[in-house]
Amino acid sequence: MKLDYRSVENALSGCRWGQTILTFECIASTMDKARALAHKGAPEGTLVVAAEQTAGRGRLTRSWLSPAGSLSLSLLLYPSPDKLPYLTMLAGLAVAQSIERTTSLRTDLKWPNDVLIDSRKVAGILVESGMVRGRHFAVLGIGINVNVDISGYPEIADIATSLSDEAGSPVDAMALLRAAVVSLETLYTEFSVSAILQDWRKKLVTLGKPVRATLGDTVIEGMAIDITDDGALVIRQSDGNDYVVVAGDVTLRHAV
Ligand code: ATP
Repeated sequence: MKLDYRSVENALSGCRWGQTILTFECIASTMDKARALAHKGAPEGTLVVAAEQTAGRGRLTRSWLSPAGSLSLSLLLYPSPDKLPYLTMLAGLAVAQSIERTTSLRTDLKWPNDVLIDSRKVAGILVESGMVRGRHFAVLGIGINVNVDISGYPEIADIATSLSDEAGSPVDAMALLRAAVVSLETLYTEFSVSAILQDWRKKLVTLGKPVRATLGDTVIEGMAIDITDDGALVIRQSDGNDYVVVAGDVTLRHAV
């Protein structure tokens, strides 16, 4: 995909966010760029968009592959601290909505931060936060496998998919970008925790599934039965005890 400033600017015309846009054909990490911009005082809604990342990252120092044809974006926000715990959910919902509004594909969410199509990961979310000049900032990172032939990437071929692989034809990355930014703006501006939680729960394919959560040496197995009001996952173990896991350092697998 050719990603130039003009097409991104056109795609985002009329949006409140994206008044400041940086576009890259290839960058190490959009997250690092956005974080650096926060420290330089960039405004809320600053967007860093790339067609390829060479050092994209996921949670827990995992790497996120962003080959040519994918879409990586990092959005800079200055949220009040009470909003921080909900940003991953909000971004997951926005990405799911944007895919469903621009393609005929249906998506699911996997706790805590993956967007799936048919159990395969099509997009990842990463929220990083910090303080700058006494203010909280958050960088909301989204990586979407848009027009990528996933079979060319053996390290993720078993667990991942792309929109073009699922749709059987190329997808309009700029329409998708616009839809994602519009959804993010709407969800963030309205910021209804109850609506976010309700819509997130509905899309969360994790609920009702047997799961294994790993936190360091600790492994918790059981049935994912609920989400608390701050997004933690409630796992019912076979002895009937409930265990609440917060996203933080937990790796979750759906057991089949
Ligand atoms: P997991 O979904 O495996 O539990 P996670 O949620 O803890 O991972 P993420 O930050 O969401 O971690 O994603 C990183 C993981 O996603 C990598 O370890 C790799 O397995 C997988 N991955 C990396 N790049 C891609 C990609 N482009 N598409 C889908 N999956 C990817």
